[in-house]
Amino acid sequence: MDIKYVPTICPYCGVGCGMNLVVKDKKVVGVEPWKRNPVNEGKLCPKGNFCYEIIHRDDRLTTPLIKENGEFREATWDEAYDLITSKLGAYDPKEIGFFCCARSPNENIYVNQKFARIVIGTHNIDHCARLCHGPTVAGLAASFGSGAMTNSYASFEDADLIFSIGANSLEAHPLVGRRLLRAKMNGAYFIVADPRYTPTAKHANQYVPFKTGTDVALINAMMNVIISEGLEDKKFIEERTKNYEKLKEVVAKYTPEKVEEITQVPAETIRDIAIKYAKADKAAIVYSLGITEHSHGVDNVMQTANLAMLTGNIGRLGTGVNPLRGQNNVQGACDMGALPTDYPGYRKVVDKDIMEDITCSWGCSDLKCEPGLKIPEMIDAAAKGDLKVLYVTGEDPVISDPDTHHVEEALNNLDFFVVQDIFMTDTAKFADVVLPAACWAEQEGTFTNGERRVQLIRKAVDAPGESKVDWEIFCDLAKRMGADPKMFTYESAQDIFEEVRTVTPQYAGMNRERLERPEALHWPCPSEDHPGTAMMHVEKFAHPDGLGIFMPLEEQGPMETPDEEYPLILTTTRLLFHYHAAMTRRAPTLDREVPTGYVEINTEDAAELGIANKEKVKVKSRRGEIEITARVTPDIMKGIVNIPMHFRECSANILTNAAAIDPKSGMPEYKACAVAISKMEGS
Ligand code: SF4
Repeated sequence: MDIKYVPTICPYCGVGCGMNLVVKDKKVVGVEPWKRNPVNEGKLCPKGNFCYEIIHRDDRLTTPLIKENGEFREATWDEAYDLITSKLGAYDPKEIGFFCCARSPNENIYVNQKFARIVIGTHNIDHCARLCHGPTVAGLAASFGSGAMTNSYASFEDADLIFSIGANSLEAHPLVGRRLLRAKMNGAYFIVADPRYTPTAKHANQYVPFKTGTDVALINAMMNVIISEGLEDKKFIEERTKNYEKLKEVVAKYTPEKVEEITQVPAETIRDIAIKYAKADKAAIVYSLGITEHSHGVDNVMQTANLAMLTGNIGRLGTGVNPLRGQNNVQGACDMGALPTDYPGYRKVVDKDIMEDITCSWGCSDLKCEPGLKIPEMIDAAAKGDLKVLYVTGEDPVISDPDTHHVEEALNNLDFFVVQDIFMTDTAKFADVVLPAACWAEQEGTFTNGERRVQLIRKAVDAPGESKVDWEIFCDLAKRMGADPKMFTYESAQDIFEEVRTVTPQYAGMNRERLERPEALHWPCPSEDHPGTAMMHVEKFAHPDGLGIFMPLEEQGPMETPDEEYPLILTTTRLLFHYHAAMTRRAPTLDREVPTGYVEINTEDAAELGIANKEKVKVKSRRGEIEITARVTPDIMKGIVNIPMHFRECSANILTNAAAIDPKSGMPEYKACAVAISKMEGS
């Protein structure tokens, strides 16, 4: 029997677990452990274990499709390319936008942004980090000079204390959750702060429920206690940071007693966790979307950095500020410059010297020095008629962006819309042209996980029908649009990666031979004799003067607050068995586990509203309403309700608020909007 095992990386979350795809008769028939991969040591969560179930589905896209009279018909690649190039060439560059795919390998993303910038002449290119960890990139870059996780996953096991805030690791990042539990078994004290008593919180030594959106106040009060008790790390503050006096001034106002009212956390608890965090020799902060998905997400992120610097918990094993990134390659998508403000390697588009350096490397003429539009801005511009053409690769904004009706209005308003994907997603149904793409198991390349580890993915099987790898499609289009073929001719993904190394300083030292090893390499890796950087900011921060910057911050709270008409706060979350919708809902084993959505409502709130467990209810916000099953539970704070975001038939994003945006990052406030719940008529 001809069976082969192809080592590659999981296509779902930013943990970046290694796995072997089992190939038999040219089909992927299963997944087996890849024990030498140090990220996950052979273990996988359910999503990883069943990721192969979607590869050979009958509903994979296999030919280009063109919409005529409201119906899709099969088309040749030539027809599709002719239509796309004629449309892309007919509009002003500022009327065209691109959503990049953070599930896709670095090489595809790199060519996508290069196509947008050189061939179209626009920086209107963005990806889903805008909707998950955009505040991390902006916030940690402001505080530390680099917008990425400071330590590695393995570092958690050296911690004496772990402070998890807004992260449900056991469901959203299960193989990091495993590390956190191992750290606890090693003796680390595990504090989880979250409005929900999540599966992760249930494993904590201390669970701290707090009102959603009050993170800045909570951490200010913790810092207030630390400074009042004299527990700040004076030497670290003196030698490694600046702006401390201003932080101290602001923090002084946030006494635990005052903050108790804002956060609903008892003053004594605030005091207790602050002292425990400050007294631990090695304390690590772990956070995820509970911190970032707010209209003040960047402030929340900078607060975690303030807390770590105040106590010297940075640059050592077992410490650090550790954002758990969302999609499998969302870190790589940021690194590759799928951002309206940055070229690859976080080099700013507004800087003329950098622009000249990039044009010299790419061999193209001058590029614009003004930033492009972010995803929410592109959606707004499309709704207003200012953005006319949109090209979406591997994203599904109808499901995943806030205020679904607003997104649908924007997509309907476009003159021309291209979607490149592996399935006919809810978004693709709005397109004029749909192009069939290869999935991760059908191509070579690299993914960069949340701990900045750049890992090889390997081709296991051929892509179905006529589908193509993303970078090939962009190169075909570029040449048809008259780009110099030298700029868009590559033999392989490896060929592209070699170019990536020349324009992305963090990747410069990563050659193929070094990436072939199971441990691969963490960036920054500036030269071929550099070992890579599992832990950042050891002796100095990444700012030019080497100092970390304290950012004094005031509590602002969510933009939309409860009132008489909409008395509850809605938060949205992810589940262990799903990652967004298009892929996991098509994996039969995963879909069987959780086949549809529900709203979690606190037992007391449910009693007041006369709602019983499993009863169908109506949830309504200022944007729309859905019908959904109630799950009555004491595991969520009174006044807060939660809906998992994966389910089109009862989509949380019909309710969420696209108008509440973090001004510093463009992040919409998924974690707090006002809703009302009522019993269904006749029930
Ligand atoms: Fe995949 Fe994330 Fe699960 Fe690992 S933890 S198997 S990367 S979904």
